[in-house]
Amino acid sequence: MLSIKNLHATINGEEVLHGINLEVKEGEIHAIMGPNGSGKSTLSKIIAGHPAYEVTKGEILYDINMNAVNLTSLRADERAREGIFLAFQYPIEVPGVSNFEFLRTAFNAVATHQGAEELDSFDFQRLIETKLKDLQMDVKFLSRHVNVDFSGGEKKRNEILQMAVLQPRLALLDETDSGLDVDSLQQVAQALNKLKTPENAYVLVTHYHRILEHVVPDHIHILANGRIVHSGDHTLALEIEKNGYEPFLRGIQE
Ligand code: ADP
Ligand code: MG
Repeated sequence: MLSIKNLHATINGEEVLHGINLEVKEGEIHAIMGPNGSGKSTLSKIIAGHPAYEVTKGEILYDINMNAVNLTSLRADERAREGIFLAFQYPIEVPGVSNFEFLRTAFNAVATHQGAEELDSFDFQRLIETKLKDLQMDVKFLSRHVNVDFSGGEKKRNEILQMAVLQPRLALLDETDSGLDVDSLQQVAQALNKLKTPENAYVLVTHYHRILEHVVPDHIHILANGRIVHSGDHTLALEIEKNGYEPFLRGIQE
């Protein structure tokens, strides 16, 4: 589904990613771990199409109808319509836009692009109520403005609500588990497992093995200084929990 080859990228003229290689297949769950400032959010944002970052070398190929399309030729909104979704590490507040209208507009943009019917407010309300129930979120979140005055945990759950509504093919989740209490983490993990299908894929950026015990990854990668320095199976998370990143960083150039 996704094939990243020798990706170099800069922000404000400074290179932050120094040659990333990553292959994600349909049905897979990948976790990306690594020290602060190593480029995990940068990588997620670049895949989603954040315009502030510049790809200076390499390519990001994404399968669209059996064609490998270089994502850098598509804008962020075009990528979203093709099923790419990013749950932000720091979700953005959008004053003046109700969560309901935001979700319905996004849903309809994706649905019509993929040849389905638009939903009116009435039908969308019915669709979203089941999603709210899964995440144990109150309906009052729909009438509030997008993320405005939401607690940290509520913002993270709102990202998963967006994902549940949009049902992306490729979901990038940037520290969605950070700042969640134990119960919220369980609900988010359950929702992620429920949304998992053999046709979609997740890339989870996380610092904690806790979420990976519920949403078990096929592969874990350690990203440090803009490079993937080590990859392994799900047991790598426990190893990191025990010994930290230090053993994997020895001999890596700055
Ligand atoms: P991580 O998510 O792994 O903690 P980031 O991808 O957020 O790391 O950041 C990687 C590096 O890029 C850091 O050194 C950070 O300071 C730098 N960086 C990220 N965004 C910007 C920006 N907008 N301007 C300048 N430097 C940035
Ligand atoms: Mg980050």
